[in-house]
Amino acid sequence: MTKPTLRLPTLQAVLWRAHLGIVLFAVLTVGITLTVAGLVALHVHAEQNLALIARSMRYTVEASAVFRDPVAAEEAIALIASAEDVAEAKVVLHDGRILANWARPGGSRLATWLEQRLAALLNPPTVTLPIVHEGAPIANLIVRGHVGATFNFLISGLGGLALCLVISAGGAIYLSRRMRRTIVKPLEALAGLAHAVRQDRTFNLRVPPAKIKEINSLGDDFNALFDELEVWDKRLQKENASLAHQASHDTLTGLPNRAFFIRQLNRAIRDAQLTGHRVAVLFLDCDKFKEINDRRGHAAGDAVLVAIAKELQAILRADDLVARFGGDEFVVLLKQLRRVEDATRVADSIAASVTRPIALPSGDKITVSLSAGIAVFPDHAQDASVLIHLADSAMYRVKRAQRGGWQTASTQEDADAKEDSGN
Ligand code: GH3
Ligand code: MG
Repeated sequence: MTKPTLRLPTLQAVLWRAHLGIVLFAVLTVGITLTVAGLVALHVHAEQNLALIARSMRYTVEASAVFRDPVAAEEAIALIASAEDVAEAKVVLHDGRILANWARPGGSRLATWLEQRLAALLNPPTVTLPIVHEGAPIANLIVRGHVGATFNFLISGLGGLALCLVISAGGAIYLSRRMRRTIVKPLEALAGLAHAVRQDRTFNLRVPPAKIKEINSLGDDFNALFDELEVWDKRLQKENASLAHQASHDTLTGLPNRAFFIRQLNRAIRDAQLTGHRVAVLFLDCDKFKEINDRRGHAAGDAVLVAIAKELQAILRADDLVARFGGDEFVVLLKQLRRVEDATRVADSIAASVTRPIALPSGDKITVSLSAGIAVFPDHAQDASVLIHLADSAMYRVKRAQRGGWQTASTQEDADAKEDSGN
């Protein structure tokens, strides 16, 4: 069953989101708090300021109100109002008539619209002062504050907030990149390495040192683990190689065994089918080997087997193969031959070389001889087991005829066939 693939966020993305979240939260919290506090302070200040303006305006407009002079009254209030943060100022007589009225001239349509929205939102202060003449109130001076200062404060506050956000976002990006270098990259290297070890069994890779203590110690632990795995892997490979060797080789002589030989013979036959070459099997058996065992002991027999194995290996080319089939039987594989005579020539050299005296553990020296049967692919058979069988049979015929010589399978088989037909 395949595991469902989860779309998990990367560490880099999580860190980046966390940084940005913290920065946004901090900047917005501080910015909004400061702006609200500023607005409150500004409002209080604007109220006090407007009360002062109203008092000095009342002082200037008093005479005009007494004489009911609208022009002078308007001039008087305009003089102060235009220079101060006043949106509207008017003098309302006791009978309800407006003696003088001044309103701040509007700017652009957008500015006016914004100011109106802001005024509706912030509710600018309004101060009403009575104008008294000879102890009796004759009119009211009504002054409404202007939101210009608040507007400017808000604009500069928002501008500051935006600037802070940009600077903080830049800081967050810088921090996140630093985190990438110091945390994400080393962790990625660690994960990549663990993956490579699991996937490709490359135990020789090691984690580079990291700049952060915990990650560095994690890397050290990983490296120690890889050290152990490498040792285990090497030991395992060695044991496997040794087991594979044991399974395919003879322990006494170190030569390949029958199973190994048959695999190689099959492969050689396949190659020969493609190249058109010949492959020869030489079945060798030591003559009267039992006598050596019986007369000189089993250890002497072993020494003879080892010496024969060495001798055969020395004679053959690197490409050829000699195996021990068991007892005193050795089988040789000769590849890429052109003629059958190439195999008989090798049989001659084997016969000549094994006659050299062999040193026994006792110090004595003995000479031995080998009888050989030769079968050649494709001349005698196409199949590995038939070739071995024919070479074996030919070798037994040699034993019967004259030990120490060799015979090819075909010759003997023909002779047998003739013999059989004669009977
Ligand atoms: P022939 O000339 O007809 O081959 O006679 P032989 O005496 O050589 O007879 P044969 O080849 O049948 O004898 C093989 C003997 O090899 C039989 C067995 O006791 C002995 N032998 C088998 N394996 C080993 C071994 O590992 N070491 C020793 N020393 N002798 C072994
Ligand atoms: Mg023998």
